[in-house]
Amino acid sequence: MTELVWFRSDLRSYDNTALHHAASNSSKLRALYIATPGQWQDHGISGRQQALIAQALHSLSETLATLGIALDVKIAERFSDIPALLKHYCEQHAIRALHANREYLLNEMSRDDAVSEQLAIPCHWYHDRLLVAPQDLLNGSGLPYRVFTPFAKSWRAIVTQSMRTPLRRPPAQGKPLKPAAIPPFCSTLDLGGWPVSENAALERLRRFCAERIQDYDQQRDLPAADGTSQLSAALAIGLLSPRQCLARLQAEARAHWQEQACGEATWLNELIWREFYQHVAFHFPQVVKGRAFRTETDNISWSGNETHFQAWCEGRTGYPIVDAGMRQLNQTGWMHNRLRMITAGFLVKDLHINWRWGERYFMRQLIDGEFAANNGGWQWSASTGTDAAPYFRIFNPTTQGQRFDPDGKFIRRFVPELAHLNHRDIHQPPAGTNYPAPIVDHASARQKTLEMFKAVR
Ligand SMILES: Cc1cc2nc3c(=O)[nH]c(=O)nc-3n(C[C@H](O)[C@H](O)[C@H](O)COP(=O)(O)OP(=O)(O)OC[C@H]3O[C@@H](n4cnc5c(N)ncnc54)[C@H](O)[C@@H]3O)c2cc1C
Repeated sequence: MTELVWFRSDLRSYDNTALHHAASNSSKLRALYIATPGQWQDHGISGRQQALIAQALHSLSETLATLGIALDVKIAERFSDIPALLKHYCEQHAIRALHANREYLLNEMSRDDAVSEQLAIPCHWYHDRLLVAPQDLLNGSGLPYRVFTPFAKSWRAIVTQSMRTPLRRPPAQGKPLKPAAIPPFCSTLDLGGWPVSENAALERLRRFCAERIQDYDQQRDLPAADGTSQLSAALAIGLLSPRQCLARLQAEARAHWQEQACGEATWLNELIWREFYQHVAFHFPQVVKGRAFRTETDNISWSGNETHFQAWCEGRTGYPIVDAGMRQLNQTGWMHNRLRMITAGFLVKDLHINWRWGERYFMRQLIDGEFAANNGGWQWSASTGTDAAPYFRIFNPTTQGQRFDPDGKFIRRFVPELAHLNHRDIHQPPAGTNYPAPIVDHASARQKTLEMFKAVR
């Protein structure tokens, strides 16, 4: 009798809890992935991320084939079509149990509940996607955390006590197989240098921890520097697990990885932000339904200026650091974190456009689009979320550029029409360059933001 591993956002063979348990339970395994193009369209998943999933599946299929495990890829339009598909598949292959790693977003959890209800076989759901499961981290009153700092403190205490080492790849289940053909479910795209296999992602993690993590706290805010890991896409689709990240960090750490003032601890903090936002989405599902965390901010009357929005999307606002960030996003599918904060802040607090427009636009472009991190980042920037920037903290896009791209190196790369300017003018281009004038005046936009937020307090 055969057991089934249903892969979702965990496209790896190492440190995969569901795969590990299924392999220890059964001598015969099959694996399945179900692409859901209609659901992805509703969730705004970018074409780049879909292409990344397709390439990662090719690689996973080859790896599993060497272990004697056949991976089938099926297409269902939406999550609601999955229970029937799985029922048919399990009958066809005489599957006696299903194993999968839990996902913590509302639609994903409803999908899994429907699968458990409709399948006549045992379904085993494992905690795997985070280092600490949302149900396992509550404050002293038994309530979910709303603020990052105490969350991170409790998170560290739990992880220090109960951190387990990453799981090995399961042993071969049979003779090597020929990998099955994968049906096309998205457009083929050239993904440049992004790691598209778990081995490539592990190699990037290893090199980052060996060569660059110790400078992370100094370099992480400078978009022109190669200062961050660029592992977000691998983490989003599960080529890598956060356990593997932490284990590698500990193995390579030169400084004490728990101390706040070092690269290692600062990087760990970012992994904790990733967990925090997934906990927020789990415990406060209104954010998944399009509501602001701070409900009073849902009463803000945003601008519907489509021309301004289009200029922001295309990187034509007349603010060089904003435009460089948006062009990086459009050209590469990734944007540096500092620029995500600057461009998001600009859309909301200089253009007064609803943060949801920006959230959606980012998802459609990002190769690392991940609902909880994206929504958390947008609500932080818009001052509408948990632990958000206070509404009166408003980035000045010119001084942000001067501070984080002082010689204009990053701006020159993505806004070539400004490349000839010196390091002062590049942040405030003089009239006469082939570059738009600022579409809004920052000082008056700032004043208007303060009034908009005061009106709903
Ligand atoms: C408006 C906005 C939207 C964002 N949208 C996303 C998104 O869709 N997907 C996404 O993965 N991250 C998102 N982030 C968080 C952050 O910008 C990216 O995770 C980071 O830029 C990825 O680059 P990196 O892998 O080099 O990160 P590193 O600096 O190397 O960090 C390591 C890992 O920690 C996690 N991480 C880092 N910063 C954050 C953060 N602030 N919140 C949550 N997780 C974090 C990521 O998984 C990242 O790969 C967003 C931030 C903002 C302000």
